[in-house]
Amino acid sequence: MAFKAEYIWIDGTKPTALLRSKTRVLQEGEELPEWSFDGSSTAQAEGSNSDCLLRPVFACQDPIRGGHNKLVLCEVFNADGTVHVSNKRARLRELAEKHADQEAWFGIEQEYTMFQNGRPLGWPEGGYPAPQGPFYCGAGADHVYGRALVEEHLDACMDAGLAIYGINAEVMPGQWEFQIGTAGPLEVSDHLTVARWLLFRMGEDYDVSVTLHPKPVRGDWNGAGAHTNFSTKAMRSDGGLDVIFACMPKLEARAALHIANYGHAIEQRLTGLHETCSYKDFRWGHSDRGASIRIPVATHAAGKGYFEDRRPNSNIDPYVVCALLMEACCE
Ligand code: ADP
Ligand code: MN
Ligand code: MN
Ligand code: MN
Repeated sequence: MAFKAEYIWIDGTKPTALLRSKTRVLQEGEELPEWSFDGSSTAQAEGSNSDCLLRPVFACQDPIRGGHNKLVLCEVFNADGTVHVSNKRARLRELAEKHADQEAWFGIEQEYTMFQNGRPLGWPEGGYPAPQGPFYCGAGADHVYGRALVEEHLDACMDAGLAIYGINAEVMPGQWEFQIGTAGPLEVSDHLTVARWLLFRMGEDYDVSVTLHPKPVRGDWNGAGAHTNFSTKAMRSDGGLDVIFACMPKLEARAALHIANYGHAIEQRLTGLHETCSYKDFRWGHSDRGASIRIPVATHAAGKGYFEDRRPNSNIDPYVVCALLMEACCE
């Protein structure tokens, strides 16, 4: 029996990469082969020497096509077999192996915004909805837009076996969130990438385009982030709060590096308003949603647990953010 394998990869578009995919028909029992693509059409190669290689790194059931069909996430390599410059997973692979004994766990809260007819889903033509307030975790046709797609996406992630943790409607109408994790660095990043692809792909059927822009509407509207929750085994064990505290100066010392790599247009979102700390400042605090780093109340109460880096944008490369946090806290 033949089945369809959807090969998915991250392209070279700047300043924010896009996801690409194409379909390969394979025979049941056949190993997932390496494949190639035209890198000159994805900002990954020059036209004169355009072949790039796709190497499968994670596969799961395809919840859209069903049956024996698969989604196949790939890393990108140059034709000579060296790591392509757009492939940030390769670096995270090294770090994950190097620090495997620390058992780093991540949970990423992916916020996103649905658009239709050039405006956020549910917004009136040529105007604005009521001010923010009733929309976050809301209910009712006057408060919540796009739930059918959101529910279908949640089911798809579950059917694919992704480590999806939950969903919620966000502060800005038309904006939603799903969380991936708790999982290790490669797993959380791979699953997030596939979950993003599913969302973009399923939006096609609703004529809804999903954007990961961190500030899709300027003005008094919340931006979209990708809060990244992080812990090591030591942080989750007795005395872990002190291990978390010890990380704070290390994170502060790298604040500029992190801001520069936490997603394009981050200065539009981290203004100091709308539950953010300015990109120019670094602050950590207990339960403080206006801080760069928040230590959740349950972690403080238990004396162990995890912290939340609230700075990453919705449009992050998760492989980059996980690597930066491991370099700061695990080395
Ligand atoms: P918020 O209250 O900030 O909206 P969410 O409920 O949306 O938080 O997301 C919490 C995230 O924290 C989840 O993705 C979950 O996987 C993650 N998480 C929970 N415990 C840990 C832990 N020990 N280490 C890392 N991440 C964790
Ligand atoms: Mn959340
Ligand atoms: Mn949120
Ligand atoms: Mn959060």
